[in-house]
Amino acid sequence: MPKKKPATEETVRSAGKGKKICPKCSVELGARTMICNCGHEFTPKTQTRRKVSTSLQDQLEERLAEIDMILASKESLELEQERIQSLLEAIR
Ligand SMILES: [Zn+2]
Repeated sequence: MPKKKPATEETVRSAGKGKKICPKCSVELGARTMICNCGHEFTPKTQTRRKVSTSLQDQLEERLAEIDMILASKESLELEQERIQSLLEAIR
């Protein structure tokens, strides 16, 4: 039994209209098939990166950046708080 070769660009292009070939197992699939039997997931070509469709990783990284900003401003607020407190001490 011959070993299965991974699909090349050419074999992918030679797939019939409305068909595509799984790059993982070289099986011909319907163009609308999103997940191959082998588990390979196809992502639509038209998919663009938008705020609403960001991956979980993107969302988590965004949130981390937000938290970093909040913590940074908290630090500067704490400095201001100290300054104000020492000013009040001086006034009293
Ligand atoms: Zn496959």
